Amino acid sequence: MSKKLSVVVSVYNEEAALPLFYQTTKPILEALPWDWEILFVNDGSVDGSLTCLREFAARESRVKLVSFSRNFGHEAAMLAGIDHASGDGIVCMDADLQHPPECLPEIVAKLEEGCGVISMVRTRNASAGLLKNITSAGFYWVINRLAEIHLEPNASDFFALSRQAADVLRMHYREKVRFLRGYVQNIGFHRVTIEYEARDRVAGESKYSLRKLFAFSMNAILCFSNLPLRLGIFAGIFAALCGVAVMIYTLCTRGGAPSGYATIVIVNCFMFAMLFVIVGIIGEYIAILFSELKDRPLYIVEEKENL
Ligand code: UDP
Ligand code: MG
Repeated sequence: MSKKLSVVVSVYNEEAALPLFYQTTKPILEALPWDWEILFVNDGSVDGSLTCLREFAARESRVKLVSFSRNFGHEAAMLAGIDHASGDGIVCMDADLQHPPECLPEIVAKLEEGCGVISMVRTRNASAGLLKNITSAGFYWVINRLAEIHLEPNASDFFALSRQAADVLRMHYREKVRFLRGYVQNIGFHRVTIEYEARDRVAGESKYSLRKLFAFSMNAILCFSNLPLRLGIFAGIFAALCGVAVMIYTLCTRGGAPSGYATIVIVNCFMFAMLFVIVGIIGEYIAILFSELKDRPLYIVEEKENL
């Protein structure tokens, strides 16, 4: 029996892009040596995406649909797709054709060779704009210095997994605060990278604002590094050294206490600032612990078609 490829597509308000995505991808899948399924995950779209996906599913049984009760985010949608996929290989991609379906034959060839993880690396991101490209480079620079593991700077949410690698994500890595792209790169297995050129979105607009990207980057750092927690130790040592220096200075000058109102206020502000930043960082980690403890669902499914 031939093997099967599952294509997981996360969809959030993509009614304008979906028909073109389906029209472009289906003939490419038909030409593959493997059987296929497309698993659309509707992440609480408020436009006509769900109606469009129901139509695809009604016409073709290999089109599967998982629809969330509300918006849970792109990563939750990818995880739901991976959870419901039944293929021997699973590819996650965007619905906006930024991830070219023309790469699918090459991905299948790599899966056939026995690769466990295939990371698709962008050579050029035409649509992202200068600001997004600079902030993205800055983020990877920071995280690669803080984290114990290495993260590929141009890796995207376009990746493929063998069934065995997907099982790792299905059973483990069920964290509430997460960085899926980072997990994919660090679960091991035989990993290869394939380069692709990210295109412009065919329709609609990007769902990732800079604010969302900042929150996403903070989560990634918190998931992959405990170094920010050690900041308190460094700050403490720094404050102690400053204290010793001032003490020695005071003892040596013997001039009694200098009339240093400004100095006292500045030092106080500085010390409290350090303290509050550190308390804030600890707070972030406690918030993660709290959300893990509450153990709320990663996503809630309202409707399924052809599954
Ligand atoms: N997406 C999603 N849930 C969200 C935001 C986005 O499922 O809350 C989907 C979106 O429909 C798209 C993919 O995730 O298929 C990537 O989003 P987008 O293209 O907006 O991000 P960009 O490519 O601009 O980084
Ligand atoms: Mg996109």
